[in-house]
Amino acid sequence: MNHFMKMWGIMKETLFECHGHLMMGGADYAASRAVHEKGPDRNVIASELRALKEAGVIYFRDGGDALGVSRIGREMAAEYGIEMVTPIYAIHKAGYYGSIVGRGWRDPEEFRTLTEGVKKAGGDFIKIMASGIITFKRYGDLSCPGLEPEELKEMVRIAHGEGFRVMTHVNGPETVRFAAQAGVDSVEHGYFSDKAALEAMAEAGTVWVPTLAATAAFVGRSGFDRDTAERTVRVQQEALAAFSDMGGLIAAGSDSGAVGVPHGEGTRREYELLAQAGITPEKIRAGNEVLRNRFRRGE
Ligand SMILES: [Zn+2]
Repeated sequence: MNHFMKMWGIMKETLFECHGHLMMGGADYAASRAVHEKGPDRNVIASELRALKEAGVIYFRDGGDALGVSRIGREMAAEYGIEMVTPIYAIHKAGYYGSIVGRGWRDPEEFRTLTEGVKKAGGDFIKIMASGIITFKRYGDLSCPGLEPEELKEMVRIAHGEGFRVMTHVNGPETVRFAAQAGVDSVEHGYFSDKAALEAMAEAGTVWVPTLAATAAFVGRSGFDRDTAERTVRVQQEALAAFSDMGGLIAAGSDSGAVGVPHGEGTRREYELLAQAGITPEKIRAGNEVLRNRFRRGE
């Protein structure tokens, strides 16, 4: 199938963006932040929603931000024919990765308080940060250690107890496995998952949102190792194929808005990279629907 036919096949369909950040503009993070620092800029949010709509996106699950942008964005999204859900802000362990998208906890009581804060703010689900981000300096390296199994279990217990589903930023074989075993409802990124991690996700019925476009955007970027970035994408695609064979659930989310992942373009790229990994459109559609039902507003 030539490139045009493939694109046409995608264009006939409506797309899901199961992991994005409306607060980020797809380029420099500091610049994106500066735009909304004195309060969410509705004009900028509108242009991002327009870009998503033009790309065919009808569903957008936000990963949270620290400035209230996704909260305003959710109100505006319907105008663009987009169903949007958001955790408002993400929740991380103080001193670990995650302050750019949310707020930190030091003990379970603080985690509970932040969970209640999401409820008061009208959040649709809880987003937890369970590991660092990929450094692209050396293969497999992450920016900080992952959470312990007991911490993950406690967070999931509290969030589920409050009636929330749990979206989980997590990389690294052990932490992905611990997260799946703790009962999180989705694994975001999930890089460097080994066989045991994949089996744990498949067994638990975890939806995996692999954000291939976000790592592909690091291939050839200055300051980062090209071979490491390429290998990271390739190994993730191989893991996805294996997970799909196990009957695992996969949903399309590009980390739309992250560096090198402009809204609209990023979602399309994610579908291409999933197709390249051998994940069929039927599989993606099924995973997307499970995720959408699981993370519905107010459930
Ligand atoms: Zn994200």
